[in-house]
Amino acid sequence: MTENSELTAAFTELYGSAPEGVWAAPGRVNLIGEYTDFNDGFVMPLALPHTARAAVARRTDGELRLHSTDVPGGVVRLRVDELAPHQGHGWAAYPAGVVWALREAGHPVTGADIQLTSTVPTGAGLSSSAALEVVTALALNDLFELGLSASELAVIGQRAENVFVGVPCGVMDQMASACCTEGHALYLDTRDLTQRQVPFDLAAHGLRLLVVDTRVKHELGDGAYAERRAGCEAGAAALGLRTLRELPYEGLGAALDTLAEAGVDESVVRYVRHVVSDNERVEQVIALLDAGDVRAAGPVLDAGHVSLRDDLRVSCPELDLVVSAAGGAGALGARMTGGGFGGSAIVLVDEVQADTVAKSVLEAFASAGYAAPRIFPAVPSTGARRLS
Ligand code: ADP
Ligand code: MG
Repeated sequence: MTENSELTAAFTELYGSAPEGVWAAPGRVNLIGEYTDFNDGFVMPLALPHTARAAVARRTDGELRLHSTDVPGGVVRLRVDELAPHQGHGWAAYPAGVVWALREAGHPVTGADIQLTSTVPTGAGLSSSAALEVVTALALNDLFELGLSASELAVIGQRAENVFVGVPCGVMDQMASACCTEGHALYLDTRDLTQRQVPFDLAAHGLRLLVVDTRVKHELGDGAYAERRAGCEAGAAALGLRTLRELPYEGLGAALDTLAEAGVDESVVRYVRHVVSDNERVEQVIALLDAGDVRAAGPVLDAGHVSLRDDLRVSCPELDLVVSAAGGAGALGARMTGGGFGGSAIVLVDEVQADTVAKSVLEAFASAGYAAPRIFPAVPSTGARRLS
């Protein structure tokens, strides 16, 4: 489904009257700063042109009706005053969780009819879940005149996912979907959500950022995320810090010695090294973009991948193959993006070499006997907004 008029028509057919409006919120890729957002660290996502859209109308009778054009099955009907964490509800838990989180925060959301559709690939590490949450939060914010800021809506979305759905994600995905702007990457400090829009005009530099969706998702992912998170917390605690954000890059060497001497688990030492060095890589990329030297960010992306692969150990053969094949074909830099264990990688490449590099990645996948990945350019796009 591509047109708003189609979405509006589908809403009207489903619920019997027209929606009050249509809203959109994008998926994202993260340029640099991975597994840093639950450590109060820095991230640098950009919004994709792919969006979740919602046609919505208020209700005053306490009923919440949810439908997605992208999943089989009919309308999910829930009572707003009966919403509680961990009730299940499948995909509908994401938008329902937003209603729950808004009401829990004291906002008078008295029910809604919602028709969703999305072009964000699901489970590809491109934040289709955050797009659903943010589009729902924004629509309800507008319709119920809640007066929440984009950052506040992102935090509502994160709370929905953390508590209602039960996925322990950081705040990057929702912040990216809510706050990114066209032509920019979002430099976000996840400690206090301060942010800066950093111009990221790839075309002006003759560059392209390719997203390579490997279309694989390894089962390892869920447990591994929680384990990394716990390891980072253990590392911070062993250093007497509240979070790893408090450890400056300059102090990393000494901190690693301290951890080793204290007999802290070797994996924790590696996690600390990844988080602190990836925070530093965000700062490096910011400095390069500010200086107008976008192509010099390539090697920083490569270094980020090595750190995710060897220190955090969240990559997988398919993601490593994207990076090595792209690098071998002349890409400026590449790394896995998102949670890893499958999902997507990004490749920074000269515009004139983009096709060659994409072809090399496809050939490498074919030779390895992997299914063909999906490759498309990441054009820094607009964050969540009302469409009609
Ligand atoms: P990611 O956010 O990386 O795409 P997640 O596992 O966090 O992956 O979220 C994917 C889930 O979000 C899906 O399994 C589904 O429950 C929900 N979802 C995403 N897009 C849609 C959609 N268009 N319609 C219904 N549910 C969706
Ligand atoms: Mg998600």
